[in-house]
Amino acid sequence: MTERNLFLIFPRNMTSDSLKRLRDWFRANAAELPWRPADLDAPRDPYAVWISETMLQQTQVSTVRDYFTRWMERFPDVETLAQAEEAEVFKYWQGLGYYSRARNILKTARIVASLQRKMPETRKELEALPGIGAYTAGAILSLAYHKREAILDGNLVRIFSRLYELDFLPTDKAEKSCAEIYWEYAREVADSPKAYMHNEALMELGRTVCKAKNPLCENCPLRSECRAFMDGRTAEFPPTKKHTEKSWHGTVLVVESADDKILAVIGGQKFLDKQLALPHFESTRGAAVALPAKAEDYINADEIDSMDYRGTFRHSITVHKIECDILYIKLKTKSSKAHLPMQDKADAKSSFEWVEKAKALETFANSFSLKALKKVMDPFSNVDTRNNGFPPFGRE
Ligand code: SF4
Repeated sequence: MTERNLFLIFPRNMTSDSLKRLRDWFRANAAELPWRPADLDAPRDPYAVWISETMLQQTQVSTVRDYFTRWMERFPDVETLAQAEEAEVFKYWQGLGYYSRARNILKTARIVASLQRKMPETRKELEALPGIGAYTAGAILSLAYHKREAILDGNLVRIFSRLYELDFLPTDKAEKSCAEIYWEYAREVADSPKAYMHNEALMELGRTVCKAKNPLCENCPLRSECRAFMDGRTAEFPPTKKHTEKSWHGTVLVVESADDKILAVIGGQKFLDKQLALPHFESTRGAAVALPAKAEDYINADEIDSMDYRGTFRHSITVHKIECDILYIKLKTKSSKAHLPMQDKADAKSSFEWVEKAKALETFANSFSLKALKKVMDPFSNVDTRNNGFPPFGRE
């Protein structure tokens, strides 16, 4: 999935206003920590960032405090550490577990010292060093060097999953884009001169407010845009177990008015929320013998002039393996006169637009809608159709 497509599926949500609220919250609530200077805008010692972030992997902040202080007193810089014996380094690490981390720290210190350099300033060079992965490299680059570099740890995953109701984990294997989608949100936060503060503020927010259990949403600066909070579903995100694939069968409507316009919807859809899409809803494959009842949320059955089944296409969005019937409905009414029942609902999450049919292929920017449209515009287009041409729907 390309970066452009990711953007189209998950439009940017972190506005400058929400990031400012995040920064204000952090300035007011940042805990005093041995590796955190009082001046939150001050660039930090990359060595100290590296040591603290490595210690913090899978270890509580409260535990790391004393270890970090003792370590920095004995090994205040890369050169001092590089000259130490492994046995002594282990002694200062004893109790933190995962001794491979201490061994890698020593190896990396010796490599950096042998090159007579400070910690590298590029992600490529950092990630080439033993024990430094994408997360630690991002932390060093953003917190120490103030570069616009993203980080993604468990805290940020939990926050992004809840903010955007992502029902998959970066480690889910069903679609290789799962991790990339999380990283895209992380890059969005880091795409600012204040990346260092956004990254650290989110880590702190995840640690102290957006906790794994019972998040303290009333104290959260992001609650006004948090979808899980607004939907009362914070306990559902992030998902507790990995899943490989979710099958979804649905129907997509290509509704054409008498004045050659196509009905488009924004919001309130299973997929493609907040972007222009064709109306779609879950349905049982082949079960319908007439207009699906759900379709009557979108159109008035009395206004239908003709209805054709135009095949079924397959599509993937994150962990969802989608199979979707295309229903092409022509209305007797013009777009301005068409009655759209969902608009009458006070709690409707959807809004509607009519798109010129001649411009529809340029107007819809997601391949889900385009696949259905192409099958309507050109019935012989290369869409993965099923059912050997026999429609699952009856015709009027
Ligand atoms: S509103 Fe609640 S669930 Fe949403 S990000 Fe904030 S703390 Fe987490």
